[in-house]
Amino acid sequence: MKYYSLNHNSKSCLFHDAVKRGLAPDRGLYYPESIPQLPQSFFKEIEKMSITEMAYKVIKPFVGNQLLKNELMEIVSETLDFDFPIVEITDDIAALELFQGPTLAFKDVGARFMARSLKSLNRDGEQKITVLVATSGDTGGAVANGFFEVDGVNVVILYPKGKVSEIQEKQLTTLGKNITALEVDGVFDDCQEMVKTAFLDSGLSSINLTSANSINVARWLPQMFYYFIAYRSLKHKNRKLVFSVPSGNFGNICAGIMAQQMGLPIDHFIASTNANDSVPRYLETGNYDPQPTIQTLSNAMDVGNPSNFIRIQKIFNNDVVKMKKNLSGFRYTDQETKKALKEIYDLKGYIADPHGALGYLGLKEYLAKEKEEQYGVFLETAHPVKFLDTVKKTLKLEVPIPERLKETLSKEKISIPIRDYSELKGFLLN
Ligand SMILES: *Cc1c(COP(=O)(O)O)cnc(C)c1O
Repeated sequence: MKYYSLNHNSKSCLFHDAVKRGLAPDRGLYYPESIPQLPQSFFKEIEKMSITEMAYKVIKPFVGNQLLKNELMEIVSETLDFDFPIVEITDDIAALELFQGPTLAFKDVGARFMARSLKSLNRDGEQKITVLVATSGDTGGAVANGFFEVDGVNVVILYPKGKVSEIQEKQLTTLGKNITALEVDGVFDDCQEMVKTAFLDSGLSSINLTSANSINVARWLPQMFYYFIAYRSLKHKNRKLVFSVPSGNFGNICAGIMAQQMGLPIDHFIASTNANDSVPRYLETGNYDPQPTIQTLSNAMDVGNPSNFIRIQKIFNNDVVKMKKNLSGFRYTDQETKKALKEIYDLKGYIADPHGALGYLGLKEYLAKEKEEQYGVFLETAHPVKFLDTVKKTLKLEVPIPERLKETLSKEKISIPIRDYSELKGFLLN
């Protein structure tokens, strides 16, 4: 498989180069030259395959021959080394829990896959690589955890000061060793912009920089796995599947749509957003008009200009009518988010997190208008404990903190304050 730049001003390249670079030299996102089609037999036999075998078959065409079969099998198996439970909330709505990994967020899947792939691809240890990553909350922790103590890789994380939760901050500032956290005086989009600028800066060409944001194909594509896992578990229900994805940078939902394009029978997608609603507005008006980031309770989705939206546009050939047949978008306020947390708790005693709660709301709104044969799954993208304050205050109950988090919380935060791009550059060159 070759990947080309969606800006069309760089040469196509294979998986290894796309992963190593993150972004193409012309600043475009990499996109596969074709979308592999899975045969009917794959879906007939899906329940008989192991999860590793299934996921291997999904990702193999994207990786090509750049990793050996046993290497890729091992990477996939380690990546998916935790559970993906489906919890029924009503007869028509279920939560798909993606937070059973080491940092309690779905981003563990992409981060673990990318870290392990990069390590294997770089097996000759030829060059030292610096992974530069902007985080709105959960990416930083997942990437830090995925790459911790990986030889030959340094990780530099930019996060917006005071705009991530305490647990999120601790997860990315307490590891040390090959992980450094930079605390940016700004919002997530400022962090993301600095990362993009660094990739373009010829003054940094002596450093091998790559990105571990969902712009990187090795972070983005493995997120397809859990849509297949959910389908495999729900197939026996014989109902049309609808997925509602709490969306910020739109990598997660874009992976789901990619899975669908490979043949996975998904009837419809719902992008549920907070006040950062560039995509729902696009679906209404046909006009993409990104706005500055607004801070909300679902902070991991506070993204004004989602990077991956261009990939979604590509999938639908920039045809908004075609897109709307497959994708709906809804936005909700913080007030509505809190109400949803209560509603989900009252229905089933289930404690959701603010992001998952948005997913639930989008699903409910969509299903209310549609036919009954549909079964809706919303993605529970993070463990509620990561948003302890909101969940505790809204539900008026204690959420027990998992053991593995307690240790992280007891450690001292170490970060370097950064105000602008020149300070980032200075840091990288040192
Ligand atoms: C990152 C994140 C999201 C948004 O995912 P995107 O792929 O950026 O759309 C949603 N919820 C949580 C908890 C996250 O960490």
